[in-house]
Amino acid sequence: MKISTEGLKSFIPTGKIEELIASEAHAPESRIREIIAKSLDKNRLDPDETAALVSVKDPELKQLILDGAHELKERIYGNRIVLFAPLYVGNECINDCVYCGFRISNKECVRATLTHDELVHETQSLVETGHKRLIMVYGEHPMYSPEYIAETVQTVYDTKYHKGEIRRVNINAAPLDIEGFRTVKSVGIGTYQIFQETYHQPTYEKQHPRGPKSSFLWRLDGLDRAMQAGIDDMGIGALMGLYDWKFEVMGLLYHTIHLEDRFGVGPHTISFPRIEPAIGTDFAEHPPHQVSDEDFRHLVAVLRLSVPYTGMILTAREPIAIRNEILRYGVSQIDAGSSIGVGDYSAKDDESKKKSQFVLGDTRSLDDVIYELAKGGYIPSFCTSCYRAGRTGEHFMEFAVPGFVKRFCTPNALLTFAEYLYDFSSKRTLKAGLELIDNELAKIEEDNMRQAVTEKLTEMKEGKRDLFF
Ligand code: SAM
Ligand code: SF4
Repeated sequence: MKISTEGLKSFIPTGKIEELIASEAHAPESRIREIIAKSLDKNRLDPDETAALVSVKDPELKQLILDGAHELKERIYGNRIVLFAPLYVGNECINDCVYCGFRISNKECVRATLTHDELVHETQSLVETGHKRLIMVYGEHPMYSPEYIAETVQTVYDTKYHKGEIRRVNINAAPLDIEGFRTVKSVGIGTYQIFQETYHQPTYEKQHPRGPKSSFLWRLDGLDRAMQAGIDDMGIGALMGLYDWKFEVMGLLYHTIHLEDRFGVGPHTISFPRIEPAIGTDFAEHPPHQVSDEDFRHLVAVLRLSVPYTGMILTAREPIAIRNEILRYGVSQIDAGSSIGVGDYSAKDDESKKKSQFVLGDTRSLDDVIYELAKGGYIPSFCTSCYRAGRTGEHFMEFAVPGFVKRFCTPNALLTFAEYLYDFSSKRTLKAGLELIDNELAKIEEDNMRQAVTEKLTEMKEGKRDLFF
């Protein structure tokens, strides 16, 4: 792959972002209320409006923003949470990202790449716990070519085990050229996720000192190339802690606007991981712009309001208490039962930590997470139906198409949850889950719909699988 930035220009207006954050610093309550109302009316916010929200300092106004984000989530998306697991395929890397345990200069990292058989075992272990959706993660290395990525994704799709299979594979890997993206698309991936890490170019250049990733522009253009290759399902993200989080929120918004303007489609998901400690990585212990829990809450709520039609991912990097709380403010997907060491699901060993990218904050099993979600009134969902029925842009449809959530998302969440309960759950989760399903069925207003879901649930109980609307 030849990296060329010829003709590329940044669409991140650094000076303007700084200006907006400064000039919108003291927006009065009336303006904050108007901005929240605009979002609740299902409109994306403009940069000046997002700048006003990120700049809020007054605790009461901050609470208004949190309440607004919560209301938007409840009103539009309801109480489903989609579950997935990361699958680390290989940690070889030729880049030197200062915060990452896999960076080339980290001598404490034990390098590993799954063999074909190991990949099958990892997949089986995940299927065995009940997972249906994965994100496959790769370091950046010539070994992990587009052909290799495609082959490993195919291996995962081909692995059928006991009571299940993986039904959707997303990717988090280096940005490719257009031809490379075409190769990966050909095996039927879901989302291709690339985090810009920081949208502040001077900071980016400092913290990515060598390797292909040192080019800010090549990375920034990555999802444009994915789009040109026909991958219209994209995930963006910023690694919180490298630069001022307010700037990163604005960067995520400008990236969204750019993709919408150029291709008519925005990102499917936004991620906002905070930097976590990693073995052999002092930088990650003390990131220069560490984000406090209070700011984190605020930034999640602002993102929810700014881009109200985008899925938001909260990973197990975060500790349990934060995860439980932040769900309220608009998160749509979380990972659970995650391991982030290469080969850890099927063969954890003494070296596991040294093969891991960073340290997880939430190490509960999938079943424990599901139990707590159900007890908290959330419907755990393993739904992959839009992707498999060819309805792309599902998150946008949930938002924009009246009745879509009621017709598809909630019924499919209930069906996939029931499938999990019958095939994989512990006794206590089964009990809590069936109670939740009964409550949710009672909430379905339309008789026909309630009856259709009840019939499919009965078929599920009798042994049918993979039912969806
Ligand atoms: N190598 C590819 C890349 O860099 O795009 C993809 C995989 S990389 C392992 C996935 C993401 O992990 C990175 O984009 C970065 O945001 C995140 N990450 C790296 N180090 C981290 C740390 N110490 N804490 C939290 N997230 C981290
Ligand atoms: Fe390599 Fe990605 Fe880690 Fe950077 S973040 S060192 S590219 S694995």
